[in-house]
Amino acid sequence: MSNLMNPIYLDYAATTPMDPVVAQKMAACLTLDGNFANPASRSHRYGWMAEQAVETARGQIAKLINADVREIVWVSGATEANNLAIKGVAQQHSAKGKHIITSAIEHKAVLDPCIYLQEQGFEVTYLQPQTDGTVSVQQVKDAIRPDTVLVSLMFVNNELGCINPIKEIGELCRSQNVLFHVDGAQAVGKTGVDVQAQNIDLLSVSGHKFYGPKGIGILFVKRGVKIAAQIHGGGHERGMRSGTLATHQIVGLGEAAHISQAALPQEEAHLSALRIQLWNGLKDIEGITLNGSEHACVPGILNISFAGVDGESLLLSLADLAVSSGSACNSATMAPSYVLKAIGLDDELAHASIRFSVGRFSTPQEIEQVVSSVGTAIKRLKGMAA
Ligand SMILES: *Cc1c(COP(=O)(O)O)cnc(C)c1O
Repeated sequence: MSNLMNPIYLDYAATTPMDPVVAQKMAACLTLDGNFANPASRSHRYGWMAEQAVETARGQIAKLINADVREIVWVSGATEANNLAIKGVAQQHSAKGKHIITSAIEHKAVLDPCIYLQEQGFEVTYLQPQTDGTVSVQQVKDAIRPDTVLVSLMFVNNELGCINPIKEIGELCRSQNVLFHVDGAQAVGKTGVDVQAQNIDLLSVSGHKFYGPKGIGILFVKRGVKIAAQIHGGGHERGMRSGTLATHQIVGLGEAAHISQAALPQEEAHLSALRIQLWNGLKDIEGITLNGSEHACVPGILNISFAGVDGESLLLSLADLAVSSGSACNSATMAPSYVLKAIGLDDELAHASIRFSVGRFSTPQEIEQVVSSVGTAIKRLKGMAA
């Protein structure tokens, strides 16, 4: 019967559904009777109202990450924020040097801009993560050179959920006079992010990863840090990102930030309980291993490998669960996850891996169902293999 029902959604790390309150606030910014105007229109009340809504939202996201409102630049999402941060710093500071440090398991939205810059004559060091998926302060220290202009590392890895020692790496970068960019897409709204206490110079944030809308994000740019704009045309956002501000998206992100800030303690407890329930329910399966760090991690993500099981068959037999696998579609073929390979998994085991990610609307009843589905599927697959 289960195939007649919607699969259980366990892919919150890919995107979250919007909080209904967020959707409501956004809907009030669309039509003539709502807050629809161009926030840059200075000559009438409609424009002032829209500007006020944008500035309220700016305050909400600034507060969540402990930034000043003048340090928030609206962009279309974390992909754009990463591009703006990395290319923007590289171009602005190339006279000082052309060396960038990142890691091999960053999101493609960091790796691809780095590859682009390599084609432009920059040199990039890709740190290999430790077996738990984190990068150590010492690794960064050893890689910094006199011509290093930027260190770009993710706060939380999107496949593994592991957390990097951001505060300590930030402290190191500051002492070495190197700018520090953090891809915070999987961290903001999920764990404590404080740009001041954690010594962050640039932080990328995405609305749709914490119950806000898709197509909106911010780049936090610490006051005094100069970056080269990537989109020109009107000088919005203090020249760093031109384009008419999308009031409804911005209001949605602001409300999502407001809700997340208030909900964070309960939500962390809720998700931790679900993660523990899931892991306890599965951990006795023969050949199972947890990828990443069991403790230095966000509670919403659990990445597991099932040794001795064929990856494709595993995914097929879990059709009643909406999860991510350790395989990525690369044109026609399935490639094993480069993240899992970088922490030491072979191709076969990477394919036989599943990322479960739970969120605000997940329930213990769902997890119970997941444990039972996975257990049954593995038994059946092993029976087939035997
Ligand atoms: C989702 C994600 C991105 C991309 O964010 P978009 O807003 O979808 O462009 C970048 N980095 C990480 C770590 C992510 O999880």
